[in-house]
Amino acid sequence: MKNSKIWLSSPHMGGSEQKYVQQAFNTNWVAPLGPNVNGFEQDLENYLGNECYVGALSSGTAAIHLGLILLGVLAGDEVICQSMTFSASANPILYLGATPVFVDSESETWNLCPIALEEAIVDRMAKGKKPKAIIAVHLYGMPFRVAEIKAVAAKYQIPILEDSAEALGSRYKGKQCGTFGDIGILSFNGNKIITTSGGGAIVTPSKELKDKAVFLATQARDNAPHYQHSEVGYNYRMSNICAGIGRGQMEVLDAHIALRRKMNDFYKELFKDIEGITVFDAPNTDYVSNHWLTAIVVDPEKTNGITAEQIRLALEAGDVESRPLWKPMHLQPVFEAYPYYGKSIAQNLFEKGLCLPSGSNLTDEDRARIQKLFLDFIKL
Ligand SMILES: *Cc1c(COP(=O)(O)O)cnc(C)c1O
Repeated sequence: MKNSKIWLSSPHMGGSEQKYVQQAFNTNWVAPLGPNVNGFEQDLENYLGNECYVGALSSGTAAIHLGLILLGVLAGDEVICQSMTFSASANPILYLGATPVFVDSESETWNLCPIALEEAIVDRMAKGKKPKAIIAVHLYGMPFRVAEIKAVAAKYQIPILEDSAEALGSRYKGKQCGTFGDIGILSFNGNKIITTSGGGAIVTPSKELKDKAVFLATQARDNAPHYQHSEVGYNYRMSNICAGIGRGQMEVLDAHIALRRKMNDFYKELFKDIEGITVFDAPNTDYVSNHWLTAIVVDPEKTNGITAEQIRLALEAGDVESRPLWKPMHLQPVFEAYPYYGKSIAQNLFEKGLCLPSGSNLTDEDRARIQKLFLDFIKL
């Protein structure tokens, strides 16, 4: 019998999702508003704690777009963005006609480097423009250097948009990711730690900001019996059907994080005696990653020439999906004309790194298959 494919990260239902979706059908709330949308927002607010407000939206990308609008980004402004990330962190800068300014990572969290960030701010100001916002990302669930990044942002009084799309349930010094920025965002796309099939959320420190986000996300209708508009609106609200899936997923979020962390432990054990392969992990106990994806760095100088790409191909031959790390935005054809600050940390990681299957639904059998593929390949 042929083995089924092992995916990098696939949806993992908890069991009560269909109950909430059925309720939506039973009550005919088949619309981008309703009790599941309100309930899902409430669940997320309870989970994140710390006096935050959550607006459920159609995607994480939509949340970044609205977040930048709420931070006052206009055409012609400059916005700093972590270079090593998924393109959805940066695309909304271009939707607004603003200019992205990319910044390198540091080697411990793989996220925004505070030193390169300050260099970028100082140089952009010297060139005549103070950046309007900073987009910082918790890559693969690993919190960025929150204290240092916030200190630089505060020194120059530039707001932070915290891209927590991959980091729901991760914590820094005990506090939930998504609650550190002037605006935070979450994603519930199919491959994320929990999913609504597609969806996202904006996290704000005030009810006024949340209400403004929801207003913009529902076509910016003024308070009038007819359709009256004083601002440009968007159709970015979450469907009550999708929110029903989200409510079911919230019931299993912590259990699924524990399973993702178990996958990380599995890889640490698998590679502990293999020279030249390092499993990405937290620099110290201030950082608690949900380990959305476990990644490794492969140093061919220490592995007798074996590269990350060769490992990827060996896994692929066994029907196991793995994937290179995010290719930095300053190396992407669509963004390469924009300014970049830093060295080559992100580029080096991209060249040597690999994301491994990390889903909370992987079984002992799957782990045994992955282990065997590795050991057979390393032996060659
Ligand atoms: C997934 C992701 C997004 C975008 O979220 P969508 O819900 O897919 O639009 C943004 N930033 C990062 C870092 C992501 O991984």
